[in-house]
Amino acid sequence: MSAAALQTHGLGISFGAFHAVSGVNLSLEPGARQALIGPNGAGKTTLINLLTGIYKPSAGRVLMNGEDVTALSADRRARRGLARTFQINTLFPSLTPLSSVVLAISERDGLGAVWWRPLKRHTAVYDEARELLGRLKLDALADVPVAELAYGKQRLLEIALAMAAKPRILLLDEPAAGVPEDESGELFEVIDALPADISVLFIEHDMKLVFRFARRISVLVTGQVLTEGTPAEIGRDPRVREVYLGQ
Ligand code: ADP
Repeated sequence: MSAAALQTHGLGISFGAFHAVSGVNLSLEPGARQALIGPNGAGKTTLINLLTGIYKPSAGRVLMNGEDVTALSADRRARRGLARTFQINTLFPSLTPLSSVVLAISERDGLGAVWWRPLKRHTAVYDEARELLGRLKLDALADVPVAELAYGKQRLLEIALAMAAKPRILLLDEPAAGVPEDESGELFEVIDALPADISVLFIEHDMKLVFRFARRISVLVTGQVLTEGTPAEIGRDPRVREVYLGQ
């Protein structure tokens, strides 16, 4: 069997005496579309910060493709193919999607100079940026300033910027947060259609979206994995219902 794209063993972190995440065993298969759900304060974002290397764990290990990366910095993990997006918008409002993606690709390839040189729209960087925007269904908006884009499109651009690093693993922290309901389904359709060899783990609160798009679901409660399974398994698990009804 091939190694999981991303795996944790007994992963945990404490802030003082508070165990924000503890004993987490998580496995993300190659090509996964996996949801991480749980009530507010369950430790979902903290877990993502442990996976990316922003936080150092108090206990446990993180493996990428079977290799222990626990001691590696966030930067080194990113260079090995781990990318993430944030709950809050981190875009430059005055840039266009095209120039934003060109900047991200230039950074990845250490081509800082491309950014301030007169725009050469025929370069490979521009071709790659346009292809990426097409994949995220943003090609028609490539030259519109970010500030003028619908919020759902801005969130898609954030995913495009993460994709510019050519990740193997993509961690999305509430990609649909703040996006109107009529746009969020479309946003998840684009996520669903990302290349099949990219493993995606997403935090999402909207259960309709979770059950429509996740192939597997991990449920985090008070820093621990309560259960994990297919949407059908999670949907009929009385413990999960209790957690959500009790909110
Ligand atoms: P979720 O994403 O599931 O809503 P979080 O991961 O944001 O939950 O937070 C889990 C718990 O850990 C919360 O009680 C939060 O206050 C706490 N926490 C997160 N980061 C820190 C930190 N740097 N210092 C202290 N407590 C933290």
